[in-house]
Amino acid sequence: MAPQIKYTKLFIDNEWVDSVSGKTFDTYTPHTGEVIASVAEGDKADVDLAVAAAKRAFHRNSEWRLLDASQRGELLRKFADLVQRDAEYITALESYNNGMTMSMAPMAIGGAIKYITYYASLADKIQGTTVPSDGEVFSYTLKQPVGVCGLILPWNAPVSMYVNKVCTALAAGCTMVVKPAEQTPLTALYLTALLAEAGVPKGVVNVINGFGETAGVALTHHPHVAKISFTGSMEVGKLIQQAAGANNLKRVTLELGGKSPLVIMDDADLSIAVPYAAMGVFSNQGQMCIAASRLFVHSKIYDKFVEAAIQFAKNIKMGNPADPTTQHGPQIDELMMNKVLNYIQTGKKEGAKLVLGGNRVGDKGYYIEPAIFTDVTDDMTIAKEEIFGPVQSILKFDTLEEVIDRANATNYGLASGIFTSNVNTAMQFSKHIESGVCWVNTYLHFCGQAPFGGFKESGIGRESGLNCVDPYLEVKTVTIAQPKKF
Ligand code: NAD
Repeated sequence: MAPQIKYTKLFIDNEWVDSVSGKTFDTYTPHTGEVIASVAEGDKADVDLAVAAAKRAFHRNSEWRLLDASQRGELLRKFADLVQRDAEYITALESYNNGMTMSMAPMAIGGAIKYITYYASLADKIQGTTVPSDGEVFSYTLKQPVGVCGLILPWNAPVSMYVNKVCTALAAGCTMVVKPAEQTPLTALYLTALLAEAGVPKGVVNVINGFGETAGVALTHHPHVAKISFTGSMEVGKLIQQAAGANNLKRVTLELGGKSPLVIMDDADLSIAVPYAAMGVFSNQGQMCIAASRLFVHSKIYDKFVEAAIQFAKNIKMGNPADPTTQHGPQIDELMMNKVLNYIQTGKKEGAKLVLGGNRVGDKGYYIEPAIFTDVTDDMTIAKEEIFGPVQSILKFDTLEEVIDRANATNYGLASGIFTSNVNTAMQFSKHIESGVCWVNTYLHFCGQAPFGGFKESGIGRESGLNCVDPYLEVKTVTIAQPKKF
């Protein structure tokens, strides 16, 4: 049964409100393409109200600013408990609005709960230093929340993205305006209701549903927004940095796209390499920034690997994401489905060999069979551009040196991986590969304790890990004159 939709309005100053214009927009389920709800559509006027609320909540005498750091941690722990309480509903809602399979969504929500508790634990570990300054002075540093943050989210993992940004900003003591992706507003709204239930004070977390060109632009240009944290495409990431530069020099962190290389050496254990390589690109229908979308396989094992990869992918069960046995659901919307199908056509035209799948399935919903291309070369479009779909492109290589150079020949630098039984090979690869994450004999392994983010044009800054609150903080040096050094 489809989950009931409880929240569809904007959330400003702890109130559910209609947009100033009264406009709404529809949100869909990718399984059938049918409308599941109409949500309030925010624009500049709503962003202005939300930023004003967040600014009030950031005033030095506000309830939020007067909370002890440990109480911010407590609030986040309470939030984690509420997410746990409603995990089944949130999982179903995520799957319904995003198309994430019910075999994957429980892991995503379970993971999000662990991340929340990790961020909760950081709230009272934010501390400055004493500084051995020259002269007759005593100096120390304070780490203080940066102010009102604009948090702009993508559609591909809505709950995880919300948690990463909102809970880190809360741990740091900031206030915020969240803009969920227009395709997937529903879980962000529900999580916000849980934060209110956990006791988040008025104005600390505000949510404006809406489109990038309107609500998103209003947020990135707002003079009272001190920082933007954005996850999404490289193209929009660049616009956001330009907006920050043209306005009030907002602090900007960006988690962008990828074209991540996964290398299979000739000494790899294929019984694990084949499933991980498949999972690395087909999970979530390939809609992952860290998708292993360039699979480099050693020439000595190339044919054997390709055979095993085809066998594996053939058995991936496609269907309604609500069925817990389904492993492969729909793409997010028609636009993305057509974009992926176009890449598959381009791959064929440019001479890659489509050895499995790649067709649309059915005429309702946005299903594409997992596709495997062999004989892919570095110059082909499918080896260069982020497809964001279930397309495994297999390239051949002969030596480690060669594959490191080829893997690095991209503007992206988000994730990478290698399967090998030689520790020296693994260490050499992981040292020289230009990516923010490198997995050895595994792939897609995430945890809150480890920093995540990209080299090069895959982003700026890191989320999760011990230092994840730093981009939400300013450092202040306080220097006090002392009559006499002691
Ligand atoms: P997108 O860039 O189209 O949109 C992301 C968000 O930005 C949405 O909320 C959108 O409304 C908003 N937006 C769009 N134009 C804007 C503008 N001009 N100003 C302000 N906001 C604007 O990306 P998407 O299609 O939602 O997500 C897919 C992309 O996200 C892929 O490139 C993927 O690799 C990337 N991604 C990266 C990570 C990571 O952590 N590195 C994680 C998930 C997704």
